[in-house]
Amino acid sequence: MLSEFSLISRYFDRPPRANGNAELGIGDDCALLRTAPGMLTAISSDMLVEGRHFFAGADPRLLGHKSLAVNLSDLAAMGAQPLGFTLALALPAADEAWLAPFADGLFALADRHGCELIGGDTTRGPLTICITIFGAVPPGQALRRDAARPGDDIWVSGSLGDARLALAGYRNELALDAADLAAAAVRMHAPEPRVALGLALRGLAHAAIDISDGFAGDLAHILERSAVGATVDVDALPAGSMLARQPQPLRRQYALAGGDDYELCITAPRSRRADVQAAAAHVGCAMTLVGTIDASPGLRLVDHLGAPLALQAASFDHFAMPPS
Ligand code: ADP
Ligand code: MG
Repeated sequence: MLSEFSLISRYFDRPPRANGNAELGIGDDCALLRTAPGMLTAISSDMLVEGRHFFAGADPRLLGHKSLAVNLSDLAAMGAQPLGFTLALALPAADEAWLAPFADGLFALADRHGCELIGGDTTRGPLTICITIFGAVPPGQALRRDAARPGDDIWVSGSLGDARLALAGYRNELALDAADLAAAAVRMHAPEPRVALGLALRGLAHAAIDISDGFAGDLAHILERSAVGATVDVDALPAGSMLARQPQPLRRQYALAGGDDYELCITAPRSRRADVQAAAAHVGCAMTLVGTIDASPGLRLVDHLGAPLALQAASFDHFAMPPS
């Protein structure tokens, strides 16, 4: 059995990157991160708990990817450039058959974003993965939730609902054939954080949030923080390619309140429509116009003809449901 320190050195302690962001990485009491003069540091934590955020026995490589992806997604939603992250890990055992692929999945994504692992903590316990991530953003350019203005367009990146569709398949809530389930499951297990898009939208978008708990619920955070309201065309929401083949009620429901999408929802001035599209095209990401910010509070859902829709749009809440 590996000791705590050989586990860290074998799987997590890597040679420092040339021209990296860390003056000092793993091995001391603290890491020392270089921060450019005048920049703000964006900081976010996300915790993944077995049986709550992922199934027991989940593929460790995908888990390594997803644990970091959800944190990078928060930086993306702030328009921040990733610098580094820490990893706090509780493990039931020092299982090398789990650690090796977990570290591979984690570092593959970290390297693509130039985001270094600079420290962490390791303990025995029920499988829990907690990452804290650090990013850089120039003052005044962070994409904040409180910056939406009446008249803004509401945009959604990529597509929504396939991760929720996969969950429904796993739970046998609906019948999906194996190929469709596998295609939808990629969205659930291997989200691609929209980091480049977040950076491209600096100085262009007003407000932004990443869609982790469902579009409607996450947009509601922008509305509340910005003290505005919105009208959204539910039929304009970009359904994922698997969800697009489902009947309309399910399509609407999962696009609106699916969860685990890790797309960006942003607001931007109507006058910057072409610029938003150009920025998205530049980073190779689809952006769909789905609604408008207005001054009267609340979220109004309409169909493609503008007729009001009464849909259940509650987002995921860990404490609102009985323990699973
Ligand atoms: P401390 O006594 O300060 O808690 P530890 O003995 O827990 O330090 O950790 C030793 C070093 O290894 C520290 O630099 C810490 O940041 C790093 N470390 C511990 N666990 C991890 C991990 N899971 N991933 C990356 N670095 C880790
Ligand atoms: Mg420690």
